[in-house]
Amino acid sequence: MKTLQGIAASRGIAIGSAFRFQKADLCFERSTIRDPAVEWARFQAALDTASKQLAAVCARAEAVSGAENAAIFQAHALMLDDPELLDAVRTAIEEQCINAESALSDASEMYIQLLESLDNEYLSTRAADVRDVTERVLRILLGVVESPIADLTTPSIILARDLPPSDTVLLDKSLVLGFCTAEGGPTAHTAILARGLGLPAIVGIGPDLLEVADHTTLILDGGSGTLVVEPDEKTVAMHRTRQAVATTVLAQARERAHEPAITRDGHRVEIVANIGNVEGAWAALEAGAEGVGLLRTEFLYLERDRLPDEEEQYQAYRAIVYELGNLPVILRTLDIGGDKELPYLDLPQEMNPFLGVRAIRLCLARPELFKPQLRAALRAGAGRNLKLMFPMVATVAEVRAARAILAECQAELLAEGQPIAEEMEVGIMVEIPAAALMADHLAAEIDFFSIGDNDLSQYTLAADRANANVASLASGFQPAVLRLVRDVITAAHVQGKWVGLCGELAGEPLAVPILLGLGLDEFSMNPPAIPLVKQIIRALTLDEARAVAQAALELDNPDAVRALVRERVTAANL
Ligand code: PEP
Ligand code: MG
Repeated sequence: MKTLQGIAASRGIAIGSAFRFQKADLCFERSTIRDPAVEWARFQAALDTASKQLAAVCARAEAVSGAENAAIFQAHALMLDDPELLDAVRTAIEEQCINAESALSDASEMYIQLLESLDNEYLSTRAADVRDVTERVLRILLGVVESPIADLTTPSIILARDLPPSDTVLLDKSLVLGFCTAEGGPTAHTAILARGLGLPAIVGIGPDLLEVADHTTLILDGGSGTLVVEPDEKTVAMHRTRQAVATTVLAQARERAHEPAITRDGHRVEIVANIGNVEGAWAALEAGAEGVGLLRTEFLYLERDRLPDEEEQYQAYRAIVYELGNLPVILRTLDIGGDKELPYLDLPQEMNPFLGVRAIRLCLARPELFKPQLRAALRAGAGRNLKLMFPMVATVAEVRAARAILAECQAELLAEGQPIAEEMEVGIMVEIPAAALMADHLAAEIDFFSIGDNDLSQYTLAADRANANVASLASGFQPAVLRLVRDVITAAHVQGKWVGLCGELAGEPLAVPILLGLGLDEFSMNPPAIPLVKQIIRALTLDEARAVAQAALELDNPDAVRALVRERVTAANL
């Protein structure tokens, strides 16, 4: 028996035998063609077939895991129409007279390298999408028929170097118990899809995974990221019990997903969702969200090659706000900079972009960027429950400056006779230790705080969240971070202001009792995490949670914090 450790990607326990998923090599020679027009037509026919295949994959994705996950394949289909990519292929076929396979693979490799070189986790995971689409077209061009997962006849755990999203979505849940990949990170689409499909998964295990032979017995624990290879009978029995308990708990949680989260002693907290687009709004409502605690607006900017204007933004925000009816939606203003770049903005290179002109700093420096977004938000909020939130605030002066620009936009729109949200609540994200330390002063300037523990952890621990070598230091379970969370909540409550948290910690079952005990008012998370988080809260009393939080604050490392919660809460209440 041995244990391999990877990154927890999708909760759940799977016990079964290994099935190694290996992709066929897409071998081809670089050859010269005689007639570029014929070659171009061959390429276009392959694109046409790829587009039909993607429509089928998309329909299947929507049926098995909802519209949000299907959107990935719509994005893949759009890549087939990408004018720059197509131009590069056409030029290579016409000017270099090379075969379509070589022309496509050269052009997409350039694209992939560009995305990967941006040192941006979001964009480098998009490189995997480009690779996925390219391989699909290459398979068609080469006539390679490949569906090794279709060879599965008995329920198995899939092992792969990497599993492209289009393969992940075709997994037949009755035959696939879960999957593990040697590569990949928790924010890659494959991991997101696994969560959408409800399949236990571990990613980033490393090359040792590829040494595991077919049919080996495995225990996959997607919650802790551990894979037990050839477990003994006692270990299997123990995990079967855990599995049965977890299945029952999740089923009960899903049944009650649309009920509020109220502790055993009657304390209610708000459970809302993190989303980036209208598909996210559907997923949120389906999962039992009571609103949106974080609308990441930068995806609207990242998914295109030029700035969206006020009208486009208004339409996008309005569509989301309408889906949510009267439920609250917190729109976060542009958070560009750090690991999220906008190539078309042509911003100066910075030595330390996470410490540079990011988010509110950029918006204050470039009102021509900020004002259309604020105007669009004010218009979209007319008659609705839309709130605004500024990211990356470090000082009181920034909040005042941002509010002054907001007031300017309000006055302009009123003068223009536009219907707007006149009484919009305004909050800030607490992501910088300075903001947490100055929470008493900041609370006087705003209506609410939302703690962004993803960034608060990286800035508190001085550990880049995108750097795999130090990313584990930047954990929200660090007592240093939890102490800042406590201080922010205390400072806000003294002034009658409410506090949410919208980083990964809010949807992390082991963190929920601590956050509840610290007095958090609103938990905002990825939609699939909602049912279980609600259920955990229902199993606790506020006093129990307070005791756990108090004890956690006294510990000196994140492992001890997790162990404490496991011992004091999960076993007793779930
Ligand atoms: C955070 O920093 O915790 C957060 C929610 O913002 P983002 O992950 O988008 O930086
Ligand atoms: Mg952040």
